[in-house]
Amino acid sequence: MSDVIFIEGGRVIDPAGGTDGVRTVVLSDGLVAEVAERVDRPAGATVVDARGRWVTPGFVDLHVHLREPGLEYKETVATGARAAVAGGFTSVVAMPNTRPVNDTLAVTELVLARAAAAGLARVYPCGCISRGSAGEELAEYGELKAGGCVALSDDGKPVMSPALMRRALEYARAFDLPLTVHEEDLHLVGKGVMHEGPASTRLGLKGIPGQAEEVMVLRDVALAELTGGRLHIAHVSAAGSVRAVREAKRRGLRVTAEVTPHHLSLTDEDVAASGYSTDFKMCPPLRSAGDVAACVEALADGTIDCIATDHAPHSAVEKAVEFDAAMNGIVGLETAFAVCLALVRRGALTPRRLVEALTSGPARTFGLPGGTLARGAPGDVAVLDPAATWTFGPGTSFSKSCNSPWKGKQLTGRCTHTFVAGRLVHQAAAEHA
Ligand SMILES: [Zn+2]
Repeated sequence: MSDVIFIEGGRVIDPAGGTDGVRTVVLSDGLVAEVAERVDRPAGATVVDARGRWVTPGFVDLHVHLREPGLEYKETVATGARAAVAGGFTSVVAMPNTRPVNDTLAVTELVLARAAAAGLARVYPCGCISRGSAGEELAEYGELKAGGCVALSDDGKPVMSPALMRRALEYARAFDLPLTVHEEDLHLVGKGVMHEGPASTRLGLKGIPGQAEEVMVLRDVALAELTGGRLHIAHVSAAGSVRAVREAKRRGLRVTAEVTPHHLSLTDEDVAASGYSTDFKMCPPLRSAGDVAACVEALADGTIDCIATDHAPHSAVEKAVEFDAAMNGIVGLETAFAVCLALVRRGALTPRRLVEALTSGPARTFGLPGGTLARGAPGDVAVLDPAATWTFGPGTSFSKSCNSPWKGKQLTGRCTHTFVAGRLVHQAAAEHA
């Protein structure tokens, strides 16, 4: 049994409950007990002074790479869960491209056991779409669902066969599991390493057109219509993909989408400005300013359901190579709030929509608990200081890896306290708070 905790004086933003105002949040027995303007505090209750801060449901991230089993030099379930709560994330979905991949009950159970031992963020495993993520035959969805998987994905790779994708959508539908799809036509990608445009031409790097993503989104929307399956588009990056998702939703198909903080805020010109920094290399690549604007607009209007970090830790050695040879991906759990808060400061997103895209939006997309401060909801809460300035880097990060375009940069906006099941699991160091 946990203490009774009073989080007092903060601006409570709970989009699911329609709350935006100064309230006290009371956590008791691991749950949200009350959110009210005035609550009498019993003697002995733990008090968190949240004046000047935002108090929101704990963030939910549908797309993180925790690297365990097999790639523990990059991250472990425990270090990833620690980074999650440092960033305000109380629930994360662990992608299956580990070694071995998560296409069996044994791997699902291992991830859940490691998460339970860490006792930090809630970790929901994602199983593979295809056995070995090889794109040839389907994995055992019943076994994966029974073990605790909440979605299926071959992330890191597209499902290139439309026939296999059709069968996957049909089979997953029987278990009501969403498919998270990494949309890239590998024939159009070729040997590309960044977005195809004027910047790639200037840099002499092979380009990947936005249409490499768009054609796969269009294909899978068609297959979602054919099968009635649940399609979730991972890390949308191209304006054409946004149009395809908007049209699919307009037609009432079961299609949802996520976007990363970096695809909302950086462009291919930032790759050029960085001087070939491999911390700007990811898949899908950073795209044009027009693509970024389309993603921001789609997040604001609800076409894109949620923000997901695609937290992808890699060791320094794997990034300290030529741009062509570097691994794809960046860490994102600890910088997501600050990076996305910049969109609020320039008026592109409301605070309510930002919080929704980090909480009830993703929770609803996969049907996960949390994402709300309704009475009786899990006692998962983030306390955020929107004015705190801090510098992201190895000295402040809890992840094992620090591959990030924001490494060494000063950021504004920081999570100061995180509660999971009514228990304090993160408090920012005072000098940074
Ligand atoms: Zn991916």
